[in-house]
Amino acid sequence: MFATAQTGLSGLSNYIYNGKAVIGELVNGSYEKVQVHTARDLFSWKNNLLQLTTKGQQEIQRRKELSVTLKFVRNGKNEQKQFRILNDAFHRNPVIAHRGAWKRLATAENSLASLAEAIRLNCAGTEFDVHFTKDDSLVINHDADFKGKAIEEHTFAALANERLANGESLPTLRAYLEAGMQQYGTRLIVEIKPTDKGPERAALRARKTVELIHNLGAQAWVNYISFDYEILLEVKKMDPAAKVQYLSGTKSPDELIRDGITGLDYHYSVFENHEDWIAMAKKNQQVLNVWTVNDEKKIRYFLLHQFPMITTNEPELLFELFKASPSVSQ
Ligand code: MG
Repeated sequence: MFATAQTGLSGLSNYIYNGKAVIGELVNGSYEKVQVHTARDLFSWKNNLLQLTTKGQQEIQRRKELSVTLKFVRNGKNEQKQFRILNDAFHRNPVIAHRGAWKRLATAENSLASLAEAIRLNCAGTEFDVHFTKDDSLVINHDADFKGKAIEEHTFAALANERLANGESLPTLRAYLEAGMQQYGTRLIVEIKPTDKGPERAALRARKTVELIHNLGAQAWVNYISFDYEILLEVKKMDPAAKVQYLSGTKSPDELIRDGITGLDYHYSVFENHEDWIAMAKKNQQVLNVWTVNDEKKIRYFLLHQFPMITTNEPELLFELFKASPSVSQ
């Protein structure tokens, strides 16, 4: 049998309406015979681009999101796929809640309750960590262990009996995304955790994560982050339009651009040591984030540098300082 190239998933270059009829093009393959299969009064396929009709532009503002199914021949094979297109209602602030907003509520990190609280606070984004069980389930937890059990060495069923500190069972990535997709203001920042089980398991967890996000139509909400560069490269192979940010801080913005990595999300000390990277990233129009900024002095530093995203365990404090910041331009 001949090995076939990993071609990844069909996708769009953009999933967000911001006042222009053109939504985007199809990416990751060669496409022929593209047709709008559903919602033909709302969408059209013109000049190799998905576009909203006049009625579609009115409807997406009223309904907040629209679905469309496209039929096409991709790399010589028939395919059809549904996409969810959102009216841009994402919050304009730099507040990214780290593992959700859990501290003042005294709830568990990475719980559905911490996700709901980040959404309630109107955070621009909420971050969470994805691990992979022995039987290939994607679950939300920070550490590689849950209640003393190594997640990658246990089945989901063996882990599901245990409870988080707030009484919730271990959330699945599916449940987390479905909860996050009930709203349109807060982006979902998906951290795919590295594994010590080798590059194949790392690539598999990346592929399964991207597949689930596509199956749920969650692309518009999601940014991917990882400490593992190979995981990010695998995400980009699966979906070249995915927004991916590197966490480890070992590459300059220019190096990331060369590798097709969308942006950077580095520890604050990296930016303190390489202040020039801030201007470089902005000049390159890269997605720029910093972790984990909790004390007032450091928050002020990154607000002064007008970071579009600041990841924090103290979203309420960051909101207070952001609202009082002279650099706020809205
Ligand atoms: Mg994390």
